[in-house]
Amino acid sequence: MPSQRPSKTACSLPPLGMDASSLCMDTRHYLLRTLGAEESVSSGNSVYTALAMSLRDRLIERWKNTQKKVAAENGKRTFYLSLEFLLGRAMGNTLLNLGLEDAARDMLTQEHRKLADLLEVEPDAGLGNGGLGRLAACFLDSCASLGLPVTGYGIRYDYGMFRQEIRGGEQLEEPDHWLKNGYPWELKRPERVRRVHFFGRSDTYYDAHGKMRQRWVDTHDVLAVPYDIPIPGYRNDVVNTLRLWRAAATDIFDLGEFNAGAYPEAVAAKNSAEHISMVLYPNDSSENGKELRLRQQYFLASASLQDVVADWVAVHGENFRDFAKHHCFQLNDTHPSCAVPELMRLLMDEHDLNWQDAWNITSHTMAYTNHTLLPEALERWSVRLFRQLLPRLLEIILEINGRFLQEVARRAPGDTGLLRRLSIIEEGGEQMVRMAHLAVVGSFSVNGVAALHTKLLCEELFADFHHLWPKKFNNKTNGVTPRRWLQWANPGLRDLITERIGPDWKYDLERLRDLAAAADDAEFRKRWAEVRRVNKERLVALVHRHTGVTFISDALVDVQVKRIHEYKRQLLNALHVIHLYDRIKRGEAAGVTPRNVLFAGKAAPGYFMAKRTIKFINNIAHVINHDPDTEGLLRVSFLPDYRVSLMEQICAATDLSEQISTAGKEASGTGNMKFMMNGALTIGTLDGANIEIRDAVGPEHFFLFGLNAQEVSQLRGHYNPQIYLQADRDLQRVMDLIQSGYFNAFEPGIFDPIVHAVTHPQDPWMVLADFTSYKLKQREAAELWHDQTEWQRLSILNTAASGVFSSDRTIAQYNADIWHLKPLVMTP
Ligand SMILES: *Cc1c(COP(=O)(O)O)cnc(C)c1O
Repeated sequence: MPSQRPSKTACSLPPLGMDASSLCMDTRHYLLRTLGAEESVSSGNSVYTALAMSLRDRLIERWKNTQKKVAAENGKRTFYLSLEFLLGRAMGNTLLNLGLEDAARDMLTQEHRKLADLLEVEPDAGLGNGGLGRLAACFLDSCASLGLPVTGYGIRYDYGMFRQEIRGGEQLEEPDHWLKNGYPWELKRPERVRRVHFFGRSDTYYDAHGKMRQRWVDTHDVLAVPYDIPIPGYRNDVVNTLRLWRAAATDIFDLGEFNAGAYPEAVAAKNSAEHISMVLYPNDSSENGKELRLRQQYFLASASLQDVVADWVAVHGENFRDFAKHHCFQLNDTHPSCAVPELMRLLMDEHDLNWQDAWNITSHTMAYTNHTLLPEALERWSVRLFRQLLPRLLEIILEINGRFLQEVARRAPGDTGLLRRLSIIEEGGEQMVRMAHLAVVGSFSVNGVAALHTKLLCEELFADFHHLWPKKFNNKTNGVTPRRWLQWANPGLRDLITERIGPDWKYDLERLRDLAAAADDAEFRKRWAEVRRVNKERLVALVHRHTGVTFISDALVDVQVKRIHEYKRQLLNALHVIHLYDRIKRGEAAGVTPRNVLFAGKAAPGYFMAKRTIKFINNIAHVINHDPDTEGLLRVSFLPDYRVSLMEQICAATDLSEQISTAGKEASGTGNMKFMMNGALTIGTLDGANIEIRDAVGPEHFFLFGLNAQEVSQLRGHYNPQIYLQADRDLQRVMDLIQSGYFNAFEPGIFDPIVHAVTHPQDPWMVLADFTSYKLKQREAAELWHDQTEWQRLSILNTAASGVFSSDRTIAQYNADIWHLKPLVMTP
């Protein structure tokens, strides 16, 4: 017998090299042979794309191995359903998590290019509004880094969060066409397309066994085409998946209702199908109730559940007995909560399960995360709209509600008030579907996102549900990924920390505790301050480049960056800035600590007060920055287009983090955690995770001010802003200055709505109530700034205490209490 030889065409691929020269070969290959770039004139853009393709190869290699491992283990998996994933840039994160940063830097140095320049080519993937969307992105990073088999499901919006420009001090919204140069980090999966139904009606029929069943007929269908983005874990060879759905028309030439003469109408119908994934709704913490938004929500829920169910059937056939043991669906707010009735529909209508079996599965696989107590953010859809758009789903929701209310009536006979309060359908006026009630009834777990938030959920918003099912409710305090928000955003600090305490903290952020001792080491403090100074120089340059404002060097950097919303109280900060200016103008310059105040954030395009607040801040900044008396004392800037890649630079350079929401209104906050991790001190109210930040670092190392949540709620109904005005001469002067038109000399009256809002007894945010204590606490912070030894000591202690705010801790808790997944261990 001749020796075995491989067939002529078979070949196997060697593993890809992880060194600079392998990366260089591959990048050249893509640049010259795939993109066909001319070497001498190749733009940063094509080099970026070529490097991205080389990195993607290395991701895909690990991705395939992870998928094989997940299939072989056949264990439980979690699916994270979210209308938002605020990913930011991918290249830096990929380099960091794969351990290729030095290799890429070396390779580019040889090409006389700078990695930093290349990274700037990448647009942010801005598929989210703010905290909720960024949380989903941090969670995916932590799941992969902990080796948990978790898949994200979302929508591939053609246009993400709008780009904000500032003209004449006002916000202009520009569309964010983030895909215009292609997106090298995704793979289209046309073979896994799904079909999503809309409109039509529910039909009763008898199947082959004579059993009465329901089916959804005469539907208008939309295709859901998946695009997969790899989510690498931190140096563990795990690569999970974020699957984003794009809407596509079903075959446009197959539309029976259009005759040959209606070709343009047929093409227009294609357009209207594709509108579903066209644009992200830019509302944060408020709902706008547009039909297209409900379409997006159902589109995501249906495509994702069909995907998971199809995979199950491919392996197990129509036997769903163990389905719940193998699956968990985590709902990021109520946005994807159509998943509850949709899973019921798929199991009953498409897979012939009876109600009870389908309900057992659904209510043992769904878990719901609540993100807000604000009534204006609680989603409700009219029954009428539901009936028209999703008739079969409405039928199922009404059945879920009927059975639920029967159970309640059994447990609390005669309590009709309770039935009315608990019902998924809100009565009186137009009937509405309360999505939060649907999510609570349909889930085995309901969690809040910080200790106070969860407590208020149980005692207020969901008090009746909590009484009914106390064990359903649990807290999972948010976190942020220390890879992006410390290691990547602040390499100087990362290396200094590692030099001091070794590298273990990169795998267990609680180890940052070991830094606390270094706070008393003068030499270490000096180096800590030096790293932060370099970061600040970079931020000062950025602010100058984008706004023309020259920040004062070595002055306190005081930062409030987040969505613009009345509850976050940018106005309180703005009033304080005016107060500082007033002190300078009245001759107290000697007592004012030099300070740079930075604002950034987007306002929802339809949110009048938020947009007016942006204008207010810009006008204040203009007056202050152009007044020679403020030279070297006070600078104010509004940085346009706040986004993830900006926050990476901002959080590493901030001295004082402004977390000043009205107590009880900010569910958690995560910006607060990014700042703390990077050594900022916090001035804040007892709200959201601020409370836990203060507990972690110690109350003496946190600038606390303002009413607490209980005091806010007790004051409601007899709040009188005049009392606070009369009691604080400084506040009176600030209001007088505003009302005199000092900041709007050529735009009369434009700030009247702001004055009116904060002086109104119905001001829900109680801005003036907290002004005096805020002012005093700011003065304390300013005084501490003069003692740089003490300030740097507290800065180090803040970082040292920030380990608990790693999203690795959050995800470990989700897994221990809700998901129960077995971590994957990849063997090379
Ligand atoms: C972290 C982050 C947020 C959330 O900030 P909060 O202060 O918690 O509201 C919003 N947007 C971006 C871009 C972020 O990085």
